[in-house]
Parts: sequence; structure tokens; C-alpha cells
Amino acid sequence: MNRVFNFSAGPSMLPVPVLERAASEMLDYNGSGMSVMEMSHRSSVYEEIINAAEANLRKLMDIPDNYKVLFLQGGASTQFAAVPLNLIGRTGKADYVVSGQFSGKAYKEAQKMGYDVKCIATTKDDNFDHVPVITRDMVSPDASYVHICFNNTIYGTKYGYIPDTGDIPLVADMSSCIISEPIDVSKFGVIYAGAQKNMAPAGVTLVIVREDLLEYGDPKMPSMLDWKLMAENGSMYNTPPCYSIYVAKLVYDWILEMGGLTVMQEKNVAKAKVLYDYLDSQSYYIAPVKPDSRSLMNVTFVTGDADLDKKFASDAAKAGLVNLKGHRSVGGMRASIYNAMPYDGVVALVAFMKKFAEENPKK
Ligand SMILES: *Cc1c(COP(=O)(O)O)cnc(C)c1O
Repeated sequence: MNRVFNFSAGPSMLPVPVLERAASEMLDYNGSGMSVMEMSHRSSVYEEIINAAEANLRKLMDIPDNYKVLFLQGGASTQFAAVPLNLIGRTGKADYVVSGQFSGKAYKEAQKMGYDVKCIATTKDDNFDHVPVITRDMVSPDASYVHICFNNTIYGTKYGYIPDTGDIPLVADMSSCIISEPIDVSKFGVIYAGAQKNMAPAGVTLVIVREDLLEYGDPKMPSMLDWKLMAENGSMYNTPPCYSIYVAKLVYDWILEMGGLTVMQEKNVAKAKVLYDYLDSQSYYIAPVKPDSRSLMNVTFVTGDADLDKKFASDAAKAGLVNLKGHRSVGGMRASIYNAMPYDGVVALVAFMKKFAEENPKK
């Protein structure tokens, strides 16, 4: 067996101990005589799994009791529609911050549905090389919520602070930074995340929502998008993505065993430092993101020469460092170094970068 260092932005690496555990339980989960993929979601053995997944996540993220935890389907992209459908009934209006492609899509989705939404800040004119500074006076006093994307996967930027929106609920897409560091959940009205970046295989989408915000849903919305209905049914209004939830639980166990999100954060900071310190120490590669907006999860860089960028990604893959090509819309390189990426993987990447720079001088 030869596992590579996989820098994919998503789906991405899962921790080896989690994969081993899942493999060992594949044919006979805990004496049930079947795999988790094969069991009824209404069985007591599965109920234990989903309940433990929720309990572990609550412990890991220190989620206050007045928040519901939902395991849904459709990816983060489905939540772009679910957010306004569930929340805009509060006042009929909402504010969006556009800091990259996914937040732009969320904004467009709300517009497409005909809602009265406003973009209160964007860094589009700067090629999204930083996140906007959001202050309280920028927020519409009659907004139902303010939507942000906390970590911008494609551009490699992240909020270094939690925007203060006063009494207006803050809604955050955390698909690519969820459970990478401790976060004060009480500062948010809603947090949502597709699982396949940092948490589990694709298929499950996490929504954490403050209970009092479950009262504003559009009565006409599809049942599958209705957070209140899902909360009332313990995420089992229909068949949930059983296996992905099970793997998510194993991932939560893995982080809890290592000491929780503070330890996870230390590891992530150490990994990102190796890469950013190298980027800052040389001039062959350019890191376009402004230092105070740098993501710990997605690190973007370019050589400034599209042909060299292409060669970089293909030579790196031959050296066992795969999926380093930047998003198709921006080019260059992107190293996604989520929780499951080992420190050694980042060290190996930097060693490769040095060697590549020596062997491929710019014209
Ligand atoms: C990947 C990603 C999405 C899209 O997620 P899907 O689960 O594919 O819908 C949305 N937002 C962010 C921040 C992402 O990284």
C-alpha cells in the first residue's frame, strides 16, 4: 500500500486511524452482523451512532444547549437556498458579504429566489485577496441575518475575527474550516458546513442553528430544507446519510482523543507556519493572500508563469504530492492542509517546492 499526501480541497484526506477503524468495522459493526451501510436508520444500533455523533460534536465544539445540531443532505450548496427559506421571514431582508465564489453563490441563490438581499461588502475588486472588515454600522438594522463564508476555500482566505453584527444573527458557511480550531458558537445564529473538506466523506451537511431562529421559515419551503422539521425529527425526517454520519462520529472521536480543538488548532497552526514561513522567505513563489487574511486550511501560491504552475502540479503528483492544482477558476497552486494532513506532508511539500524552484529557473 502506498498512500500519497493528498492536498485536495475536497473531498480530501481522512485520518488514517479513522479509515482503519471504519475498515475493521466494515463487515460486522459491533456484533450487529452487518455494515453500517446496511442497517436501518431506525434500528437501535444506528440510533446510538447518530446520537453519539451529535454528543461528540457538542462536546468538541462546546455547542450551547439552545442550539440544534442537524445532519442533512445536499451539500453546503443546498444550504445557500435553505438559509433564506428558513430565516428571511424574520424581517423580509438580509445582508450578504461576498468574499469569494461560495459566498457569491449563496448571495445569488437568495437573489434568484426573489428575496430582498443586499451585498454589504465585497473584496471582488482585489481578486478576493483578503476578507472584508465588517463593522456594526455596515449591517442593515432590519436584516434578518448577515451571511458570511468564514474560510474561502478557493482563494485561501479566512476571517481572523468574528464580525460583530449586534443583534442581527450571523450565518456562516464553515465548510472548509469546521472543527479546525475552537470557535465561540454563541457568536453565530447559524453555522453550516458540507462534510467532505474536514469532517467526513461527502453526503452529510452539518447545520448548527440557534433554537429561537427556527420560527421564521417560509411555510411553502420544501420539507427537506426545513430546519425546524428536521430538528423535530432528529435529522431523521427521511433516511439520513447514515455512513457519512458514522465516519463523522469517528472523526470527532479522533479529535477528542487527541485532546480536542485546542490541540487540533496547535497542529494546524504549526503545519500552516511551515508553508507560510517558506513562502515568505523566498521570491520564486508568490502567495497572493494578504497576511492578516491567510487561511490555515487552504494555502494558495503561484509561480507567475502558467506553464510552470502546470509543471509544478504534475511533477508534484509524480513525487506523491497530489491535487496541488489551484481551483479551475483561479489557476496556480493550492495546498489544502486540513486536519487529516500530517505535518510530514507539509514538510515534504516545502522540500519539493525548494527543489522545483532550483531545477526550474524562470526565464
Ligand atoms: C466546498 C464548499 C462549498 C460547496 O460545498 P458542497 O458540499 O459541494 O455543496 C460551499 N462553501 C464552501 C466554503 C466550500 O468550501
